[in-house]
Amino acid sequence: MHSVPRTIQHQTQTYEQLGISNSRLLIRGLFVRCPACGAGRTHKSWTKMNQRCHRCSLRFERIIGHALGYIGINTIVAFTTTFAVLIAGAVITSPDIPFVPLLAATAVPGVLLPILFLPSSHTLWTAIDLIMRPLLPGEIDPRFIKVDPVAGPWDASAVVASASPGGTESAAEGAAESDDDRATGESQGDAAGGSAQ
Ligand SMILES: [Zn+2]
Repeated sequence: MHSVPRTIQHQTQTYEQLGISNSRLLIRGLFVRCPACGAGRTHKSWTKMNQRCHRCSLRFERIIGHALGYIGINTIVAFTTTFAVLIAGAVITSPDIPFVPLLAATAVPGVLLPILFLPSSHTLWTAIDLIMRPLLPGEIDPRFIKVDPVAGPWDASAVVASASPGGTESAAEGAAESDDDRATGESQGDAAGGSAQ
């Protein structure tokens, strides 16, 4: 058993940084809102997203290649819906499947959905990107940050645990206990760190 510093074991996740759940991030993205703060007016037109959120100043396209993500989401949604319409139509009308009308019906989700879903796919992908890659210091207005990724309470207690002279085993146990205690509060985490000494 090796004692791994908790700063490496645990990286502050976006839902902790912002104090909201991952599902809330996704729902905000789905409804074309800034995933980080929930502000509207994310687009200058149907197809063009603003560069930054007007409220929290999050850059929506956080990395070069952001387009690959939302095009991917858009394609998956359109393809899945088109396929579902095709299968449902075939099952309902079987055995006399009207091929031409059925193919024409699939053009509705196949052509319209990618256009209708475009703004939503922009912000939804920003939300997924935020869940995968936590915010970096200075990336948004600090008033929207609940736990600072650098100087948050979690990292501060990691310094106490790793500095305890109780040996590698007890330090690792202290870290494991504190993992459980995070749900119940920081004060118990401090108590676990104290007992490891
Ligand atoms: Zn925002």
